[in-house]
Amino acid sequence: ESTSAAQEVGETTETEKPQNEEEITVAERSLLQKIIRKGLMDTKAQLEVKQKDPTSPLYSAKSFEDLNLRPELLKGVYAMGFNTPSRIQESALPILLGNPPQNLIAQSQSGTGKTAAFVLAMLSRVDSNLNYPQILCLSPTYELAVQTGEVISQMGQFCPEIQVVFAVRGYDINEKLSAHIIIGTPGKIIDWAFRHKFFDVSKIRVFVLDEADVMIATQGYQDLSIKLHRKLPPNCQKMLFSATYEENVMRFAEKLIPDATILRLKREEESLDNIKQFYIECKDSNEKYRAIANIYGAITIGQAMIFCQTRNTASWLSSQLTKDGHAVALLSGDLTVDQRIAVLNRFREAQERILITTNVMARGIDVEQVTLVVNYDLPVDMNKRPDCETYLHRIGRTGRFGKAGIAINLVDSSRSMNVLRQIEQHFGKPILKLDAENVAELE
Ligand code: ADP
Repeated sequence: ESTSAAQEVGETTETEKPQNEEEITVAERSLLQKIIRKGLMDTKAQLEVKQKDPTSPLYSAKSFEDLNLRPELLKGVYAMGFNTPSRIQESALPILLGNPPQNLIAQSQSGTGKTAAFVLAMLSRVDSNLNYPQILCLSPTYELAVQTGEVISQMGQFCPEIQVVFAVRGYDINEKLSAHIIIGTPGKIIDWAFRHKFFDVSKIRVFVLDEADVMIATQGYQDLSIKLHRKLPPNCQKMLFSATYEENVMRFAEKLIPDATILRLKREEESLDNIKQFYIECKDSNEKYRAIANIYGAITIGQAMIFCQTRNTASWLSSQLTKDGHAVALLSGDLTVDQRIAVLNRFREAQERILITTNVMARGIDVEQVTLVVNYDLPVDMNKRPDCETYLHRIGRTGRFGKAGIAINLVDSSRSMNVLRQIEQHFGKPILKLDAENVAELE
């Protein structure tokens, strides 16, 4: 028996534990970002539109009623607590839902409403009288596919006739599919389509490629996506989504869907404007620990994140605090994907107020509900030089969050004092000294 496409690209090994933290993949980071996000990211950024056919009108939907959705779908939207379309949805939804169907490439950062938009489009295009797959959604990993599946079941809660199937590792079937929607990883979908002929690609009417940036970062997936895409019928509506806007992603996107309207929502710059920055001088790790314990005692509202340079420090700190009766969550590279999801879910629900993590784990993850960030170790690069970008990312906020935040840096040597001063100079914002025994003044 020939090896399947799924085996070739190693789809069965996706959840294997990384050997070290450096191996956290873009897919894992994207997943963590999804789990931790509480709601829509409100942005003031301007939407850029690039149309292949500038004569075709571009509508902006200011309400969900404007979209002529089926009543059951509109009910689903409101049941999810959505009142008005997000900025990207205002322009994307008329393109996705209108007739004749148009193709779309959309790029905007995580949390801006892309998934909700294409899920609505997928559900609205299902003809439930036809019992075969009509909608295909490619996702880079099992876990990301499951996240999308959950949005489908929420938004489609009043459309019980719509059937969804997952084409991911562990889900095996041996007969022709009757479900309307398939969500899955490229290798498995290709196996089901071409090797087993469980469904007919030429009957697909909507093709979604989600997380295009993650997709092309995954070995083999770009080619598999193109292979699948070639077999789609000419009238199939195609949509592609990405959280980032690197040139290689856009090249891939435009190669795949040359006639698409392109929407792009720029990322807002982070700043330290609303952040009060402090440092605490500590002799050694015992003093650092005491400082943390004092801070923990002092904060009564909001949630905190503590960043450590290494996994070992993070787990030591977490077990010390736990021993002393504090409820803390630990996010580190030793955890399986499922465990990471569980940790972040608990933190998002505020079951723990403190999350201890390493830089590798949390880089690029926005946690808007956090009001206090502690740098147990200051961020440095591989050459031990100050890593200002990571510093900004850990504690910086975009204008939209508005609320003030507090950052505390623990300094334990002349070297780390030096790093602190360089960071202070880089941003031109004062980092004030705080007395370790008197952190009560924070609030
Ligand atoms: P993305 O795919 O861009 O990361 P999502 O579609 O997952 O964004 O949306 C991010 C969060 O915002 C989710 O919790 C989602 O339920 C919520 N959301 C999406 N659209 C809206 C809306 N129009 N109004 C309120 N919340 C929304």
